[in-house]
Amino acid sequence: MIRNYPGFPDGISGDELARRLSNQATLFNAGFIINRAAGLTPRGIGYSVRLADGAEVICRSAVITTGAAIRRLGIHNVDRLAGKGVAYGTTVSEPEALTGEDVVVVGADPSTGPAAVALARHARNVTVVLRGGTDVSLSADLVKQIERTRNIRVRVNSQVVDAYGESRLEGVIVRHRVSGTTEAVGVHGLFVLMGAEPGSAWLKGTAERDQDGYLLTGPDLESHQARAQAWPLDRAPLWLETSLPGVFAAGDVRHGAESQVSVAVHEGAIAIMLAHRYVREQAAIGVGAIG
Ligand SMILES: Cc1cc2nc3c(=O)[nH]c(=O)nc-3n(C[C@H](O)[C@H](O)[C@H](O)COP(=O)(O)OP(=O)(O)OC[C@H]3O[C@@H](n4cnc5c(N)ncnc54)[C@H](O)[C@@H]3O)c2cc1C
Repeated sequence: MIRNYPGFPDGISGDELARRLSNQATLFNAGFIINRAAGLTPRGIGYSVRLADGAEVICRSAVITTGAAIRRLGIHNVDRLAGKGVAYGTTVSEPEALTGEDVVVVGADPSTGPAAVALARHARNVTVVLRGGTDVSLSADLVKQIERTRNIRVRVNSQVVDAYGESRLEGVIVRHRVSGTTEAVGVHGLFVLMGAEPGSAWLKGTAERDQDGYLLTGPDLESHQARAQAWPLDRAPLWLETSLPGVFAAGDVRHGAESQVSVAVHEGAIAIMLAHRYVREQAAIGVGAIG
C-alpha cells in the first residue's frame, strides 16, 4: 500500500496505481510493447533497443526506468504471508504498527540496523537475524547502539528457513548455520531487508554503472574520474543523462535513487523533458534522420 503518494490520502496499492497510470498514458496516445529490454546499442545517430524476442526498437533518445527488484528469501511460506505480517522492502515504514509485538528483522542491508532500532521503540522484542557476524553487516556505532537497546537481540550465523501461520504470520524457523540447530520463534512481524537488484544487467558494459549496478547519471557520472573520461561530448552530461548521450535514467534504477514513487514519477517527467530537449538540439545542429 502506497500511503505517501500525493492525491491519495487513503493510500493506493502499487498495482492499482500502475494500472491507472498506464490507462492514463494510453489516453495520451502512448504506445506499449509488452516485452523485456535485453540490450541497447548506438545505431546511427540514435540507439537500437533489442527486446527479449529479438525484435528491435530504433530511437533517437531513450529513458530507462527499469527500477530495482527487492531481494527475496525464496521461501514459499514467507512469500505466502507477504502483507500478512511479512514485509519486504529497503526500509521499515510505520514501525508503530508493531507496538507491543515480537518482530524479526532479516538482512545485512545498510538499512537493517536503523530499522531494528526504529522498531525497538515500539515492538516488545526485536530479533535481528544475520547470516554472518555483526562485524560484516553493521557499523561499529550501530553495533554499540543495538547493544545498548534492551529489547534487541542479534542472532549471528543464522538464517530464517521457514515461516508459519495460516491467515497471518505466527512465527519463523531460525537455523544456526554452524551447528545446524533450528528453533521456532513466535513473531507477528518479519521484515526482510536484503536490499534490491537494479534492473540494469542488460546494460552492463554499455552504460556506466556504480559498483552495485545502479546507473550513473549527470553529476554522479562526472565525479567518477574513469567514467568522466568515457563521456564523449564537449558539454557536461545533463542531470539524468547516462554515459550514453541522449539516454536518460529515472527512478529506482538510478544511482542515488530515493526509492519513492513520487520521486520516480518526478524524475520520469524531467527525463522526458530532457529527452525532448536533446532531440531538439540534435535537430538544431543539423543531425539527420536515424540511419
Ligand atoms: C514492498 C514495497 C513497498 C513500497 N512502499 C512504498 C511507499 O509506500 N511509498 C513510496 O513512495 N514508495 C514505496 N516503495 C518504493 C516504490 O515502489 C519505488 O520507489 C517505485 O516503484 C520506483 O519506480 P520505478 O519506475 O523506478 O521502478 P519500478 O516501479 O520497480 O518499475 C520498474 C519496471 O520495469 C520493469 N523492468 C525491469 N527490467 C526490465 C527490462 N529489462 N525490460 C522491460 N521492463 C523491465 C519491471 O518489471 C517494473 O515493472 C515500495 C517498494 C516496495 C518493494
